[in-house]
Amino acid sequence: MEFARLYLVLIILIVLAVGCILVMKFQKPRKPTNVLKFPKRSGKSRQIPKQACSYCKKKAPALSFYSDQGNKVIGVCRECKPQAERLGLLRL
Ligand SMILES: [Zn+2]
Repeated sequence: MEFARLYLVLIILIVLAVGCILVMKFQKPRKPTNVLKFPKRSGKSRQIPKQACSYCKKKAPALSFYSDQGNKVIGVCRECKPQAERLGLLRL
């Protein structure tokens, strides 16, 4: 009978220890949720607002910028780029 009691106490101790470890493991993932906000911020910066081309007025994800004769900055899309270069505009 005494051996059975000792066995029971041992089991209870093991269960308590395992319980403590499990609680520690479940509490840890709460902190990294704050760190996970960083990829969301970088995701926002990826959304570059599309700018309209100065020549064809089409919205392009990437524009090449040139300086006009009147020192005006114009953005041209890939298709209008040769047009701007033909005019001898300075690329910025
Ligand atoms: Zn264009």
